[in-house]
Amino acid sequence: MPSPSSSRAVLLIHGGAGTLSREAMTPERADAFHAGLAESLRAGHAILAAGGSALDAVTAAVQVMEDDPLFNAGRGAVYTTDARHEMDAAVMEGSARRAGAVTSICGPRYPVLAARAVMEQTEHVLLAGDGAERFCRDAGLEFCPPDWFGTRNRLDALQAEMRRRAKGLADDGDQSRKHGTVGAVALDSHGTLAAATSTGGMTAKRPGRVGDTPVIGAGTWADNRTCAVSCTGHGEYFIRYAVGHELDARMRWGGQALTDAATTLVEQELAAVGGSGGLIAVAHDGSFCLPFNSVGMYRGFVRTEQAVLHTGLFRDGERQTPA
Ligand code: ASP
Repeated sequence: MPSPSSSRAVLLIHGGAGTLSREAMTPERADAFHAGLAESLRAGHAILAAGGSALDAVTAAVQVMEDDPLFNAGRGAVYTTDARHEMDAAVMEGSARRAGAVTSICGPRYPVLAARAVMEQTEHVLLAGDGAERFCRDAGLEFCPPDWFGTRNRLDALQAEMRRRAKGLADDGDQSRKHGTVGAVALDSHGTLAAATSTGGMTAKRPGRVGDTPVIGAGTWADNRTCAVSCTGHGEYFIRYAVGHELDARMRWGGQALTDAATTLVEQELAAVGGSGGLIAVAHDGSFCLPFNSVGMYRGFVRTEQAVLHTGLFRDGERQTPA
């Protein structure tokens, strides 16, 4: 049975800040994104509502989006310049700052499970490339062939970006072609926080490039004393501004409320230097926020006590569906 404090339990998700422009977003595509987000929320909510752990909830929520080709993680991951997938993922659990991450992998169907296996089955935090894949095989994780992860849309996006570069044209700022990532953060009925993030990275990234997602303290963070954070956006900025740990520090040392700290960081400081993107974060007291400085951010949340799935794509037009 959930404890009385289960009313505070909450799950937040994001499906990336590189939303389609309003012009390119047909009603059918919008419906598909809302449905994909709702399915992810439903998976995590079922775990939290039954008194399960934040770590299990964020893992399950991310797995749903990794399987959904609409999102840039797992199946539907973007391509590097040499038309391959290099996926990154991380998990962190806030009771003892346990963390695990993988980078530059292509094989495990659910990169988030690879990250979790690193946390739970090794003495390391971050495994990369071939070594990470070998570890995942030994751990018995499910593998898929490279073309299972690919989609026509992502290949078109790569080709469009390569053509743009070849012509020396200026970046047109279309974030939907470049960005994406999925993530989840949760507070469970036991007061534990957890975060999980998974991504294909950025379209036409240089082979070997590692973004913020698997960098603990940048794209992924959780500490029960402060907050759990999962970021999405231009990863180089999120690494340089150590966004996950920065929020923790502003709360722990500066006494700031989560929402004030996160909103200032994303909407003012990152925006001012060109660091487009956003984040989802939940604090130890159950307060939460989903700030972004991009046109939109695929996102959602569910409070266990209310059992209503809230999903949003742009700044307006939030939808509510029963859990
Ligand atoms: N942050 C991810 C990266 O830089 C991409 C994204 O979230 O859009 O790899």
